[in-house]
Amino acid sequence: MRQMIIGNWKMHGLRGDGKELAQEIAAAIGPALTRRDVVLAPPFTLTHCLAPLLHEHGIGLGAQDCHAEAEGAYTGDISAAMLADLGVSHVILGHSERREHHHETNARIRRKAERAREFGLCPVVCVGESARQKEDGHAEPWLTEQITQSLPADFDGIVAYEPIWAIGTGKAATQEDIESRMVFLHGVLADHLETDDKPTRVLYGGSVKPEDAASILAVPGVGGVLVGGASLSARSFLGIVQAG
Ligand code: PGA
Repeated sequence: MRQMIIGNWKMHGLRGDGKELAQEIAAAIGPALTRRDVVLAPPFTLTHCLAPLLHEHGIGLGAQDCHAEAEGAYTGDISAAMLADLGVSHVILGHSERREHHHETNARIRRKAERAREFGLCPVVCVGESARQKEDGHAEPWLTEQITQSLPADFDGIVAYEPIWAIGTGKAATQEDIESRMVFLHGVLADHLETDDKPTRVLYGGSVKPEDAASILAVPGVGGVLVGGASLSARSFLGIVQAG
């Protein structure tokens, strides 16, 4: 299975610098695309302006959230249909920052994942344990709950394993940790999902940098990486896309 590199720009980028960053990445990325799929998830405000450039270069256009309903009286929200209308291909759902700051529950994330599929978007559902849960030995039951409650049984999308303690801290999980989590997560997915003809791509996310990207991408079971901070510089993002 081809690996996927997703750049999550979070709440960064105005039209000028966002376009410049995307152009730099797009111009360099050609040959690397034969090996790995690349998706950029800019903030909503840049979706429309980056769509033609990314499409032209074979780069997926991602979004960082969508609403669980198709339309309605939800001031300030963005629907999956609106994203699809702009040419978005992937939508990140249930990122730990949204779970924390917007109180997103597994049940709501599941409805979002279903809605995304309904409008032809590929959901990228994030799961991950906190430092406390890891220390207390509660990570596995927590991850099992997140997977089984956030993913419909007919889920057709991507899962991103992002331990909260690794996000934005500069301390990625070790290769050993990632490998054992991948074995665990693939097992939970195999039990939970009713379709086993197509294995689910599971990405790792949390302080991925160009220096350690090759070793992370070489871990068995890793279907790619979700990159936050390092996706805001063309040099470091390209270093990850082309690693190994
Ligand atoms: P980071 O963020 O690479 O800055 O740790 C990853 C993420 O939150 O998706």
